[in-house]
Amino acid sequence: MSLEGRVAVITGGSSGIGLAVAEELARAGVKVVLGARRSDRLEQAVRAINSQGGTAEAVTSDVAQEADVVRLVSRAREVFGRLDIMVCNAGFGYYGTVDEMPSDVMRRMVDVNFMGSFYGARAALPIFRQQGHGHLIFISSIVGKRGIPFMSGYSATKAAQAGFAESLRAEFAGTNVHVSTVFPVSTLTEFRYAMERDFGHQISGLGPKQPVETVARAIVSCVRRPRPEVFPHAKSRALAVLNAISPGFTDRIVRRYGRRRVVQPAGTTSSRS
Ligand code: NDP
Repeated sequence: MSLEGRVAVITGGSSGIGLAVAEELARAGVKVVLGARRSDRLEQAVRAINSQGGTAEAVTSDVAQEADVVRLVSRAREVFGRLDIMVCNAGFGYYGTVDEMPSDVMRRMVDVNFMGSFYGARAALPIFRQQGHGHLIFISSIVGKRGIPFMSGYSATKAAQAGFAESLRAEFAGTNVHVSTVFPVSTLTEFRYAMERDFGHQISGLGPKQPVETVARAIVSCVRRPRPEVFPHAKSRALAVLNAISPGFTDRIVRRYGRRRVVQPAGTTSSRS
């Protein structure tokens, strides 16, 4: 399906998966509007996309603020006159036990990872309903299908996105409004750098890793041919199936993915299992 001339809004478009999706969509002829907090990085992304023949706009915005998300979506319609694709991607993680995780960090993670997606859906769906078509895409995580140790708060926000998407999908079933959820495994982006920057812990994850381009291509393929769920790392779907059949057995499997080497800010190294 040709995507030429369509318009997409992508939250968290200043780096990682959001930026890679924007670039891939722009190459396919989609006009992209990127949202994130770091204006300099957004401007850099817009310049790069436009210089390669694409069409991009940026709106500095914090997805935890509903007014910012409304402004981001409105910008797409003001500048390009339509909205076809809404990608709710902005997010961050936190590593630690529940007692280590400050309540205000958990609240912020809910605000950004879940409420940000909720605001995105709330802004985009009335437009999709009115025009009779549209595609809402949530970037969840494989840990939203199956929680892993020491990322309980983060896993909860990713599961919340998945549950939200399932309900919406059922509401729009049989129409031309599509809702998809993406479940990437560990992806090489700034995700871990952001955890180090904001919380001071360096973690090196175990388990499969994938390049950001693989995730972006899987998402754009879903835009071309809408599907309910996307597992960019094909084998990871088996984890979701196994967990549905045997959650206790799966606990023992994912336990090894929760073992992370933690480099303390002072430079000392410890490990947790
Ligand atoms: P990055 O850290 O590279 O990108 C995160 C993006 O979200 C940045 O553009 C950041 O921009 C933006 N962002 C963060 N907070 C806010 C906010 N409050 N308002 C607006 N934008 C915000 O990580 P990824 O690309 O990996 O993460 C993208 C999504 O993919 C996340 O939802 C993450 O949970 C999910 N994911 C990541 C995996 C991984 O291993 N990397 C695996 C599975 C899922 P800025 O700082 O400029 O605001």
